[in-house]
Amino acid sequence: MGFGGLGVWKPTGVVGCPVTVAEIVETHKERGVFCAQLHGMLLCFSQLAFILFFAGILTADFASGLVHWGADTWGSVDIPVIGKAFLRPFREHHIDPTAITRHDLIETNGDNCMFTIFPLAYLTLVTCEGYPWACYVFSLAIAVTLTNQIHKWSHTYFGLPRWVIILQDLHVILPRKHHRIHHVSPHETYFCITTGWLNYPLARLGFWQKTEYLIENLTGHKPRTDDMQWARKTE
Ligand SMILES: [Zn+2]
Ligand SMILES: [Zn+2]
Repeated sequence: MGFGGLGVWKPTGVVGCPVTVAEIVETHKERGVFCAQLHGMLLCFSQLAFILFFAGILTADFASGLVHWGADTWGSVDIPVIGKAFLRPFREHHIDPTAITRHDLIETNGDNCMFTIFPLAYLTLVTCEGYPWACYVFSLAIAVTLTNQIHKWSHTYFGLPRWVIILQDLHVILPRKHHRIHHVSPHETYFCITTGWLNYPLARLGFWQKTEYLIENLTGHKPRTDDMQWARKTE
């Protein structure tokens, strides 16, 4: 991320950021511009950028839930191309949840990395004028990149690194016990699989049920019909 523009950057609109970078430069004359830049960067990072960093993780968690819910709930594995390539792995995951733990690094993370490489490459071009926004894109892209790996860890009961277990226990990433709620048939809740932070509030709001009710009324399609038929066929 480039900070070339920081020396002239006035962080207008940054919540609680009390001074312009020019003023910080003045107070750091002896220690030089670099120190002033660092000071300004840290001040502003701790405020709007931090909020946007957090919002990026929440967005990734919601997006993971939305994609997972769509693939679990609608469509058939017989649909050309996306049925086999996209929907079937989600349906198979309900039949054999531990199969994911046998996937290697590339199979687990390759698909998501293909999407997030573009926003991450874009961030290398961002100057400090777009810094808070860049924090949002950065945390969103990193959280999306890690989603399948985090999901895999939530199904892994042996040999997990200690730091992963600590992150799960602190609910920084999707905990194992928490994700088990989704794996109770008919798999109609707790779809978020990045951090899982949104699962409880969305369940309390009845978000997925209300959205399904709306779609069923608009299209006449019942949720999970194909998933249930397919599960029966494979039993
Ligand atoms: Zn599922
Ligand atoms: Zn799972």
